[in-house]
Amino acid sequence: MTTEIQSGADLVALAGEFARREIAPLVAEYDRAEHIPRDLLDKMAVLGFFGGVVPVEEGGLGLDHVTFAALVEEVSKVCQIVGTLVSMPSGLVGAGIARFGTAEQKERWLRPLAEGRIFGGSAVTEPQSGSDVAGMRTTYRKDGDSFVLNGSKAWISNLDIADFFLSFATMDRSLRHRGVSAFIIPRDTPGLGLYPYENKLGFRPICTGEVVLDDVRLGRESLVGEEGRGFEVAMTAVERGRLGVAARSVGLAQSCMDEAVAYAQERHAFGHPIGEFQIVQSKITDMAVGVHTARLLVQDAARALDRGERARRLTSMAKMYASDVAFRTATDAMQIHGAYGVSSDYPVGRMFRDAKVLQIVEGSNDLHRALIGEMAVGIRAES
Ligand SMILES: Cc1cc2nc3c(=O)[nH]c(=O)nc-3n(C[C@H](O)[C@H](O)[C@H](O)COP(=O)(O)OP(=O)(O)OC[C@H]3O[C@@H](n4cnc5c(N)ncnc54)[C@H](O)[C@@H]3O)c2cc1C
Repeated sequence: MTTEIQSGADLVALAGEFARREIAPLVAEYDRAEHIPRDLLDKMAVLGFFGGVVPVEEGGLGLDHVTFAALVEEVSKVCQIVGTLVSMPSGLVGAGIARFGTAEQKERWLRPLAEGRIFGGSAVTEPQSGSDVAGMRTTYRKDGDSFVLNGSKAWISNLDIADFFLSFATMDRSLRHRGVSAFIIPRDTPGLGLYPYENKLGFRPICTGEVVLDDVRLGRESLVGEEGRGFEVAMTAVERGRLGVAARSVGLAQSCMDEAVAYAQERHAFGHPIGEFQIVQSKITDMAVGVHTARLLVQDAARALDRGERARRLTSMAKMYASDVAFRTATDAMQIHGAYGVSSDYPVGRMFRDAKVLQIVEGSNDLHRALIGEMAVGIRAES
């Protein structure tokens, strides 16, 4: 490593240098194999890349959200799946524990997560309810000092490497969000079944699948936040996660644009580099404007979080807009590459597959469109 760390900008530069040198040579192969090499993640842990916005005293880097988003973007230019893993301790997996967890829970789960010594999963989505989180069917009942959970979760990431899952169950479905409680479920808990899906279109290196809870018995130490307030834990996790998805989308879009520009300069047709054709330039213009505005939205949302705001509207806007830009940019980058875009020798096909998934995860873009509209017309609060 040549970079000496003195500031957030140095850390971002170090992450970029690491990603280009250590991740780039492996990404096509591990995307095919559907498995990120653990030693790559271990190297990243040594450099502190998983610490994000988790406070220093809780094992993290204590970054501000602007620097965190820039770090995630930089890694995601090379592989947005590694960007996902970098984001999780600060978002989908760690944010709920950081905000609602006890000192013991933070010491046992958040610290090693932020230090990259362990990984976690966040199990919110169910086979019958994704967007409608309060419609979950997984239930719990109390038995003495224990909670006994039954049900199943679908499309849960990190099944292969997670040491624990932050998950959710309701004591009474008719109570909707007021019935939900949050639990930390260690991987080795009896009754927990993990069933990976295979051969996904996108997000291939992350192991995603079904989590079955069959009489999973947990003690009080597993409850995160107050009983019946688990919906807030879930919303904290997904809302904080959205900044990471947006930053990953910007990184992926920037990378697609860089690939498209390079290809347009070298590929000739009709005696000219294809970049001299105005129709090709027009696509690149849309990419440049889209990536720049998406990055500004991400930074704006990050600044709002740094001011201590909940920033629901801004994180929704950033997630929706940036992932739409990522998909459009990836689609146009494929077009500019012609047949070679279809070849696995070029990275744009992989990024195109991932960009589609970015429009679906952590709140589908249709859901975000609805949320932003409802806030605008005053039927949904922004905070
Ligand atoms: C690779 C991958 C990894 C994932 N990892 C995780 C994970 O780690 N943890 C986890 O909990 N989940 C995870 N998910 C699940 C993901 O968060 C959900 O797929 C997402 O929330 C959408 O839920 P759904 O698929 O059930 O779609 P549904 O809720 O069934 O929605 C289907 C479609 O209906 C439309 N729609 C739904 N509601 C509205 C609305 N109110 N307004 C307008 N349109 C609407 C949208 O077009 C939406 O795309 C993952 C998914 C994938 C693909």
